[in-house]
Amino acid sequence: MKILCEVQVVNRITQANRTPRPVKSTLAIGYKQSARDSNGNATNKKELEMVLFTPQVKSGTRYKVRENIHCVHTKFVLDGKVTIGFKQPAENLLIKCDPIQLKGFLQTMKLGMEGKDAINLRLNISAATAIAQKAQPQQRMSINKRSEYPIKGFPRTLKSLSINNIQLMKLSFEICTLRNLTTLDVSGNKLTKIPKELGRLPLTTLRLSGNSLGELNDWCWLRGSKLSKSLCELDLSANGLSHFPKPLVRFERLVTLNLNHNRLQYLPFGIRRLQKLRALHVSSNKLESLPAAIEDLHIDLLDVWGNCFKGFNVEVAQTQVRRPAAPNNAPTPLWLQAARVVANQKLPYTASTLPAILIELISEAPKCHCGKLCFALNSGDVLKRVTQPMFTNIKNLTYSREHQIYLDVIICGADCCVFQQMKLLSNIMFP
Ligand SMILES: [Zn+2]
Repeated sequence: MKILCEVQVVNRITQANRTPRPVKSTLAIGYKQSARDSNGNATNKKELEMVLFTPQVKSGTRYKVRENIHCVHTKFVLDGKVTIGFKQPAENLLIKCDPIQLKGFLQTMKLGMEGKDAINLRLNISAATAIAQKAQPQQRMSINKRSEYPIKGFPRTLKSLSINNIQLMKLSFEICTLRNLTTLDVSGNKLTKIPKELGRLPLTTLRLSGNSLGELNDWCWLRGSKLSKSLCELDLSANGLSHFPKPLVRFERLVTLNLNHNRLQYLPFGIRRLQKLRALHVSSNKLESLPAAIEDLHIDLLDVWGNCFKGFNVEVAQTQVRRPAAPNNAPTPLWLQAARVVANQKLPYTASTLPAILIELISEAPKCHCGKLCFALNSGDVLKRVTQPMFTNIKNLTYSREHQIYLDVIICGADCCVFQQMKLLSNIMFP
């Protein structure tokens, strides 16, 4: 009989462990047919032997069993733990195994010690070998040639999958069903669209660099509930993006966002929702300004190298604060007042206590320096673009020194104290 178990060998005299930890082992028991006894006389006596196969001793360590047992501790056999001690050598085997198998093994040992013949003992112990350990389920796969793409499908156990530079046009639905997947890298292909089912996977890392997702600008997959709550790292660099994908501001776990080498002209004010963001790469885009909301984040690395920061552009400015228009001089709508109260008083709220539109407003609408939420430019809010902003929350900033960085600031009204102060400061560029 053979069992697969974990064994630690302890020498009782030296108290030395042959292995510091229990190691995966095979324990075998059976009769050894010895043609001659110790006196050299021919005999049919069967010698009971136990063999311990470990990765260190592949040929096995042999222990005589009959009249050689020092102790057997079975108190924790139901927990799958047993100690068998031998007299020669003075070693204890601390065995951990499936409890049912372990009980079977002890019963077999007992039968053997009584000299009985049992099916479980009909093992040629001299020729016994370790149980072949099951190959580890495949967790990683990397495909760099079209010929490597699996025809019979992907192993369901995959945790990490990369498919790079093979001109892939479409991400197969099957990939979206790999429930164990946490890292997906499909950089350097020809994807124009991601299936919306991908949003159901709890990925932590997603690399889509060097595709053509800006072509269709289809971001349905970013609305998937699981992905938006799990994703920590997203690479959308070199995808020809002309707009920041709007649903991305709800990826509140995002730590690293790479948007290098696109054609972005602005980042949304709602980016302040990404409170876990630590690295934001937007080099080599067409950014004319950054939203002041970037100062509300706790960014360790901001890379804005190679953009075209410049003065005010009213058209772009209007699209940044694109909210339902309110008539001039209209009273502040009740729901905006409600959102402002919740935000100002820092009242706790959840999706079940507050309508989604208010949550969106509180976490994504531009915020005036005075702390008030702004809503629409034509309801009295003022947009200013300032240069040389002081980034107090950004640890490392990479930018082209020939360009000044411009920051768009929204002020809640001409009578706000912030606006009055700004008028006094000389570094403000008025339109
Ligand atoms: Zn204000």
